Amino acid sequence: MFDVEKIKKDFPILDQEIYGKKLVYLDSAATTQKPKQVINEVSKFYSSLNSNIHRGVHYLSIKSTEEYEKSRDTVCKFINAKHTEEIIFTKGTTEAVNLTAYSFGERFVNEGDEILVAKTEHHSNIVPWQMLCYRKNAVLKVIPADENGELKINEYKKLLNPKTKLVAVAHIANSTGVINPIKEIIDAAHNNGTYVLIDGAQAVQHKQVDVQSLDCDFYAFSGHKMFAETGIGVLYGKKEILEDIPPYQGGGDMIKTVSFEKTEYADLPYKFEAGTSNYVGAISIAKAIEYMQSVGLDEIEIYEKKLLKYATDKLLSIDKIKIYGQTEKKISAISFLLNGIHHYDTGMILDKLGIAVRTGTHCAEPTMKHFGIDGTVRASFAMYNTKEDIDKLYEGLMRVKKMFA
Ligand code: PMP
Repeated sequence: MFDVEKIKKDFPILDQEIYGKKLVYLDSAATTQKPKQVINEVSKFYSSLNSNIHRGVHYLSIKSTEEYEKSRDTVCKFINAKHTEEIIFTKGTTEAVNLTAYSFGERFVNEGDEILVAKTEHHSNIVPWQMLCYRKNAVLKVIPADENGELKINEYKKLLNPKTKLVAVAHIANSTGVINPIKEIIDAAHNNGTYVLIDGAQAVQHKQVDVQSLDCDFYAFSGHKMFAETGIGVLYGKKEILEDIPPYQGGGDMIKTVSFEKTEYADLPYKFEAGTSNYVGAISIAKAIEYMQSVGLDEIEIYEKKLLKYATDKLLSIDKIKIYGQTEKKISAISFLLNGIHHYDTGMILDKLGIAVRTGTHCAEPTMKHFGIDGTVRASFAMYNTKEDIDKLYEGLMRVKKMFA
């Protein structure tokens, strides 16, 4: 049984007042809060096991290394990767995309080749590809979207051609919550001999992801958006591709031997993990996964779907509200504007009522431009949000409207 009140109690930060009002946290797409199980695990680790990994022969170092590698195993099973060494720890989604753009780009992208990104991407799944295109004299092409922020799949298929080397698309768009049809995108790309990276930053905390059944070549996500620490993330890549592409950064841990004449790189996954990894962050991801699994990924998805429907219906009952990304195929975020009221004003008034929402472009300027606006208010949910949170948002928005009437 999904028990939101019990879940909420696991997140200590939610139990506080802001400006004398009970906190209503509706900014989980920016970062999720952390359950005490994760916080305690990190504290316990620093209090009893901490030592640098892959370095020492002493007890603590061996234990730290074991915990780090166990976390890789947990992540591997969580997304159903085939091999543990397909899991690369990065500092987040951004670094995972940059790693791919660099290493894949060095190996596979040449002058005149094309990279496809969706119009509704987060900047971190646009700019690294743009940088690659500058470097290689390649061409960045854009998959168009319709007025709801849904991708035009037929147009996408027409863009695929022998020069298309890679397609980079979000599983779920962060600025609208729209779920992209990634299976169809991946299958069409593969039929064209094109590789695919999926940005899963907004997906893994809301639904079960299976990289083998998706058959994507790369899948990226961040710890801090899935109830774990910040400064840690994951790049999944198919083993045969990761083996074939050069490392992203050089340094300790990513080598077998070094001499001034020649360096031999380490095997996977270490080839892509130069320097001291955020091993505590990795351990926090494993604990966050354990926490999500104890609640149940399917249960989380079902609950959040109901909550989104409740929130959408409630907000749509407000006169002259416009929701951007209004479609059935979405998850846990509502991006909106109250007619004539600037998103910052709405956000600042809501803040004074103890309600945390996001305002602005959500690191997706091209998406905002597509909608012909300079930003939205975004309320985003996680498994700990309740109908009462939505009711408070509704009341807050009514206050905003009254103030601007
Ligand atoms: N992609 C998407 C879809 C996101 O929502 C975000 C974070 N807002 C990122 C990429 C970047 O994630 P990070 O800042 O954790 O690297």
